[in-house]
Amino acid sequence: MQQRIEEYIALIPDGERVPEVVRQARLRCCLACNALRDGTCGLCGCYVEARTARARIACPDVPPRWQAYPDGKEEIDGGENHETDTQ
Ligand code: SF4
Repeated sequence: MQQRIEEYIALIPDGERVPEVVRQARLRCCLACNALRDGTCGLCGCYVEARTARARIACPDVPPRWQAYPDGKEEIDGGENHETDTQ
């Protein structure tokens, strides 16, 4: 699974993938979150390692525990907003 997630992240175009330092900060939020279940967010069903790599989406909690990058504005539609296709 880890290799597939890494492959998925590598395929995200540069402008749509956050810098690694941002992804790691997001992952620290997920690791401290009580919604995390076996690497999956209990609120959205995404693999957090994949979701945290996408720039234009945010944590689904209210309020979000981490924001869209770089300006906090999320993609509304027309983009992948659910990171469960790495299986
Ligand atoms: S995406 Fe947000 S709600 Fe989901 S596990 Fe991470 S911090 Fe928690």
